[in-house]
Amino acid sequence: MLISTKTLLTTAQAENYAIGAFNVYNLEGVRAVIAAAEAENSPAMLQIHPGSLKHGGLPLVALCLAAARQAKVPFSVHLDHSSAAQDIKTALQAGLVSIMADGSHLKYDDNVTFTRQMTTLVHQHGGFVEAELGRLTGTEDDLTVPEHQSKLTDSDQAIEFVNQTQIDALAVCIGNVHGRYHRPPQLDFQRLEAIRNNVAVPLVLHGASGLPNSMIEKSIEFGVCKFNVNTEIRGAYLTSLKENLSLPNSPDLVPLMQTAITAMQAVVVKKLRLFKSVGKA
Ligand SMILES: [Zn+2]
Repeated sequence: MLISTKTLLTTAQAENYAIGAFNVYNLEGVRAVIAAAEAENSPAMLQIHPGSLKHGGLPLVALCLAAARQAKVPFSVHLDHSSAAQDIKTALQAGLVSIMADGSHLKYDDNVTFTRQMTTLVHQHGGFVEAELGRLTGTEDDLTVPEHQSKLTDSDQAIEFVNQTQIDALAVCIGNVHGRYHRPPQLDFQRLEAIRNNVAVPLVLHGASGLPNSMIEKSIEFGVCKFNVNTEIRGAYLTSLKENLSLPNSPDLVPLMQTAITAMQAVVVKKLRLFKSVGKA
């Protein structure tokens, strides 16, 4: 069933577990995430990156919303990392009312202005806004941020940012990165704790692919209630395709897609268990 991101995240926050937000690109990704969540009786989120929106357009939004409505467990559909007002307006018109308005590439004051404007707009549609304070490095789809531009979230600025923008969830930068971790990840849990003590809104951690289980568990303890997962699912998809296409008698398209779904589904199941959302549907 399709429910609001607000309900999903505030329930998770109150009950000390986290919602997995899984980036999808096509029918196979959507089927994998929903099958995993249904098998584990877990709530979850389908998430569309702007790169994916550019590729799939409104039919992809319609697919995600229809699949979420039909799912046996609670789902919301979310637009990831949107720094373009036009993308956000297009999404709202298509019925996608859970949005990450990402002004993290802007100077602080401009980030506040952009985020506040987008939040006002999304709230007029009864929607939900996630925004980022600080700057995540790494690569996700067509978005690459070099390491020297990284900036961790300041816990005092976080209070001001949430108050000034009226956002519904805050994405934190505490050493997490998009894509692959090129050295062992180090998360600043003291910083996370300080942010958690300062703001009441749900906290989000991007770049959950490649974080050790212990760090995920600790992040949940310190108040993270949404994890974004992209890289590991894509990896499972691509590996499955490569392996099967290199067989002497490679399978036809439908069995090939089915095998890829199964491979992605296994990754999603592992994450849902780690996020402790299993049985919470
Ligand atoms: Zn992200």
